Amino acid sequence: MQVKRIAIMGAGLVGSMLSIYLKQKGYEVEVYERRPDMRKTGAVGGRSINLALSERGWKALQKIGMEATVRQLAIPMNGRMMHSVDGQLTYQAYGKEGQAINSVSRGQLNMELLQAAEKLGVPFYFEQKVESVDTGNGPAMMLNLKEDEIYPLDADLVIGADGAFSMVRNSMMKTDQFNYSQSYETHGYKELTIPPDEVNGSFLIEKNALHIWPRKNFMLIALPNLDGSFTVTLFAPYKGEGGLDSITGEAELITYFKTYFPDVLPIMPTLAYDFFNNPTGSLVTVKCFPWVVGNNMLIGDAAHAIVPFYGQGMNCGFEDCSVLDELIEAHNHDWSAILPAYQQSRKPNADGIADLALLNFVEMRDLVADPEFLFKRKIAAKVSEVYPDRFIPVYSMVSFSHHPYAEALKEYTRQDEVLTDVLKMPGIEEKWATEYLPQIAERLFNL
Ligand SMILES: Cc1cc2nc3c(=O)[nH]c(=O)nc-3n(C[C@H](O)[C@H](O)[C@H](O)COP(=O)(O)OP(=O)(O)OC[C@H]3O[C@@H](n4cnc5c(N)ncnc54)[C@H](O)[C@@H]3O)c2cc1C
Repeated sequence: MQVKRIAIMGAGLVGSMLSIYLKQKGYEVEVYERRPDMRKTGAVGGRSINLALSERGWKALQKIGMEATVRQLAIPMNGRMMHSVDGQLTYQAYGKEGQAINSVSRGQLNMELLQAAEKLGVPFYFEQKVESVDTGNGPAMMLNLKEDEIYPLDADLVIGADGAFSMVRNSMMKTDQFNYSQSYETHGYKELTIPPDEVNGSFLIEKNALHIWPRKNFMLIALPNLDGSFTVTLFAPYKGEGGLDSITGEAELITYFKTYFPDVLPIMPTLAYDFFNNPTGSLVTVKCFPWVVGNNMLIGDAAHAIVPFYGQGMNCGFEDCSVLDELIEAHNHDWSAILPAYQQSRKPNADGIADLALLNFVEMRDLVADPEFLFKRKIAAKVSEVYPDRFIPVYSMVSFSHHPYAEALKEYTRQDEVLTDVLKMPGIEEKWATEYLPQIAERLFNL
């Protein structure tokens, strides 16, 4: 398979990053994006305003020389800060000293990637929507939204980086033996704001933490922004206890926050405006296979949309890019070998993080308020601290390492079983960090 000219559909986070990788590898790359240029119009709302960037994302950025630029935009969050209904705070570090996930503005990150790609000579065509691709190697059909005109587009390889509702995938789905599943959560989300301090512009709650208000079946979270504000997200069921359907007007909204999140209400002056003006987002998991049909390939959310509770959707998409880059080198630009290797290597890992993200929703909204769960985490953290070369907890495996997600998923069950058993040891509260530590560690070792 001869590949010289590559058309990427979608100039989101993954499409923009991928264009840099492929251009640096010497390909003729062009990118087609449905929306107008966000550098001129501003980022479009509706998706998360900020995102957690972790180790896999950093590695992918580093390989294209963008780590230092993006570090300037990032606020490290070293741990989670849990807020109880009566305002009590519990802090838990995410990893070892110095390890953090990072809050980054989606719009700013996307614009930096676009800028860097354009500087390398990648052309971006905005307001150009892919309508369909040809799975028999014919041209893709494009719609020029400015002129309302359909036109054909030829490329040696068409890459669908067009997100969770991918049109490239839509065409691939019409071929024989294409597996596809899509499932929505019974929860939606609303984005809200804690502004900076009116007087001095400072952060009104701890800056270097991801804040969580866990309320069993629903939760509020907050991630810091560079301007001193926090983007707050309410994840709640559409119906039932704590349901979004109970918030029918401003009075109900205030009652809802007074009941479940009283500590944050006084610092959210735009709550009603944000709640009633921002859209309610839905949460979907999309799995499909194959990711390559004819000369079309999927990447990022187009191949694997996951729920946001592990903060890994973008990180996984960025890892797709860095792995593809490694495969281009390993197979010396032979795309008939690269494409099968890419989907074989990424598919089990995308499935792994999709499942872990669903499990983490239960942890975030419910278990982080459970003393037994926190105790298990404390034991795992201690073993990792004392035996750093022998044990890595699941959260660290996902967020601070490059171990395959599929392995992390297996470890999730195994570590939890061991720790549940460990809690049954007589006098565990007193002896876990001393007498029992070596035997607990022996059972947990995974490196
Ligand atoms: C609430 C929320 C919070 C999240 N938090 C995190 C987090 O903390 N950490 C993390 O790693 N991930 C997070 N994610 C996931 C992350 O947003 C996605 O994984 C990431 O945006 C995927 O990037 P992408 O480029 O594949 O897709 P997208 O960002 O969806 O970009 C797709 C692009 O394709 C364009 N497009 C769509 N259709 C067409 C078409 N037909 N023709 C041309 N262009 C088209 C779109 O306009 C868009 O620009 C979160 C997601 C949500 C919803």
